[in-house]
Amino acid sequence: MNVFVTGGAGYIGSVCVEELLNAGNTVTVFDNLSEGHRSAVDPRAKFILGDLADRELVARAVVDAQVEAVIHFAAHALVGESMQNPGKYFRNNVAHGLNLLDAAVAARVRKFVFSSTCATYGVPETMPMDESLPQRPVNPYGESKLMFETMLRWYHQIHGLEFVAFRYFNAAGASRKFGEHHRIETHLIPNVLKVALGQRPQCEIFGTDYPTPDGTCIRDYIHIVDLAQAHILALAPGKAGFFNLGNGSGYSVREVIQTCAQLSGQPITAVEQPRRPGDPPRLVAAAGKALSELGWQPKFPSLEDIVATAWDWHKRHPAGYRD
Ligand code: UDP
Repeated sequence: MNVFVTGGAGYIGSVCVEELLNAGNTVTVFDNLSEGHRSAVDPRAKFILGDLADRELVARAVVDAQVEAVIHFAAHALVGESMQNPGKYFRNNVAHGLNLLDAAVAARVRKFVFSSTCATYGVPETMPMDESLPQRPVNPYGESKLMFETMLRWYHQIHGLEFVAFRYFNAAGASRKFGEHHRIETHLIPNVLKVALGQRPQCEIFGTDYPTPDGTCIRDYIHIVDLAQAHILALAPGKAGFFNLGNGSGYSVREVIQTCAQLSGQPITAVEQPRRPGDPPRLVAAAGKALSELGWQPKFPSLEDIVATAWDWHKRHPAGYRD
């Protein structure tokens, strides 16, 4: 298929583009490089430097590339930042995303795949979390993604746009070529591995008084290559709807730090800090729907595999991407 990937220079997008190309698709990456890296774009893909705010450019690019499917990763995705600057999230993730949605409808794109998030559920009442839970986000990031989901529902009903929206749990790990490099890193695993690499003296634990066994937040970590594979399955005709993507196992912040220390063989100093605003205590997926309806089968479900591939990538790219 001709696939148009926004945010294809970002962490999740770069690995998905690689997997799409390996599966024989033709890929156009559209990215403003505000978060992504030019060298994270697989050289087999066509690259367009552009911003979703530019409505005409987006519409033209989708037509020119004869796009059959859109995969929309481009977004701001930091819970903490969204609590300080909500406008940035609503403007980019909702308003600018709408330009892409309109372009897809105008060009009669067959499938729209959207990166949503478990943050749309807020603080869930039951665990593990399936897709039927009420969605009550507790931060603007989650709210912005829920607003896009709502637009997708209406565009499906009114324009017949077929879509898959994935609610990601915590993407982590690396492929052999592409890994996680944010200019300002806030994510747990890369921050802990920076300590193992000797680039930072210590990492931080945000909150030790949560109602969890060791007092730190619990998350469901999912390997980036498994995440990418789900997107390829979603391109098949008839696959549609909302799907959680996670492994169904929760790990606390302390357990993640311990696993990083074990696999790197380096001592990790961790400092306890207050809670980070907007963080729910525990998020663990029930992803049975993706398994049964998409035929999705995660290959790297264990935290050890996830951290080992991240550690391997960070050791080979200690400064991340060069541009
Ligand atoms: N976290 C932490 N120290 C860090 C980064 C994150 O304790 O340096 C915690 C964070 O508060 C959350 C969990 O680790 O409970 C996962 O955070 P991350 O930012 O990796 O992903 P998120 O769950 O926000 O998408």
